[in-house]
Amino acid sequence: MNPRRQTVTANVGGVLIGSAHPVVVQSMTNTDTANAEATAIQVAQLARAGSELVRVTVNTREAAAAVPELIARLEEVGLSVPIVGDFHYNGHILLREFPETARLLAKYRINPGNVGAGQHHDANFATMIEVAKEFDKPVRIGVNWGSLDQQVLARLMDANAAKGSPKSGTDVMIDAMVVSALESAAYAEELGLAHDKILISVKVSSAPELWQVYRQLAAECDYPLHLGLTEAGMGMKGIVSSSVALAPLLNEGIGDTIRVSLTPEPGASRKLEVEVAQQILQSLGIRQFSPQVTSCPGCGRTTSIFFQELAQKIQDYIRDTMPDWKVKYPGVEDMQVAVMGCIVNGPGESKHANIGISLPGTGEDPRAPVYQDGKLLTTLKGPRIAEEFQELMEAYVER
Ligand code: SF4
Repeated sequence: MNPRRQTVTANVGGVLIGSAHPVVVQSMTNTDTANAEATAIQVAQLARAGSELVRVTVNTREAAAAVPELIARLEEVGLSVPIVGDFHYNGHILLREFPETARLLAKYRINPGNVGAGQHHDANFATMIEVAKEFDKPVRIGVNWGSLDQQVLARLMDANAAKGSPKSGTDVMIDAMVVSALESAAYAEELGLAHDKILISVKVSSAPELWQVYRQLAAECDYPLHLGLTEAGMGMKGIVSSSVALAPLLNEGIGDTIRVSLTPEPGASRKLEVEVAQQILQSLGIRQFSPQVTSCPGCGRTTSIFFQELAQKIQDYIRDTMPDWKVKYPGVEDMQVAVMGCIVNGPGESKHANIGISLPGTGEDPRAPVYQDGKLLTTLKGPRIAEEFQELMEAYVER
């Protein structure tokens, strides 16, 4: 693991983002922000799952008008997660028309590709920066491949053609994303926004291009970077694509806050993107969010469903209990738990964990030795093995 790329620190509603601080997990709602109640419910779900910032769409006057009620509803239930406003096309209008919303949001996301063209681009962008200065807010200059500033792209395409087109179209687009982000940041600073009030993202939807564009950007500035693969997709495809895309960059020390953008399956909770982001950081050893559960894949020695059920129950129990455990037992997330299928690797892995259980493989009447701090503690048997192991974990954590 490389050291983090050095950045300044941006303060987003009390959450510090930059190389001197842990990589921050964030997410975004998919409710209509005009419906403050539904949005507050989803923000609360995301925050309780571990999202340290939550972004909401602010696309209409109704959405902008609803932000104060949204934040009041969160405060009523004791949630103080910073809320970021996502603006496109009309942010300059909404931020001016709704000063209370501008005051309450922790950060404004500005897409330089859709703030307007020509003179309007600079004027609209400047309006948003003026509001950010007035309310002392940071901004994220969020460039996207799909909404890249066409003037910047045309300028770079022309320059490339004038040199005999030595660069591919993709390389010029990547250059244009970096130029659009950095020129916008420089303009924001010219307008008087402090250097440490600016974060940048340059999102694309393919992993190799994401590595290229973020490496290029990282080499050219010290702004904190918001890292994410845009339009990653649904389910397993989205999870694998995001993991593959983000891991090499994080491993190189690039990325100060991450969002995993998953298309939710119908009826599925938005929390999954927070859980995946946490798991990416935990797998890389960058942050620890919950006890690491080592469970073997099972094989011909675990033909009964009992082992899979046990592993699932233990995982679910830890996930559901962690929010309370973290409050009651600081540091509990560093615990190691092993759930193993048979004696081949089971006792060894169990002894390495703080607490571990090893099943005997197949058999009608399973007996499962439990190891605690490397020593045999007890042997569980009967139909309540999972529940009794949970009780032993709880007792271990309490102690
Ligand atoms: Fe199979 Fe035992 Fe290894 Fe699990 S620990 S994969 S059950 S041999």
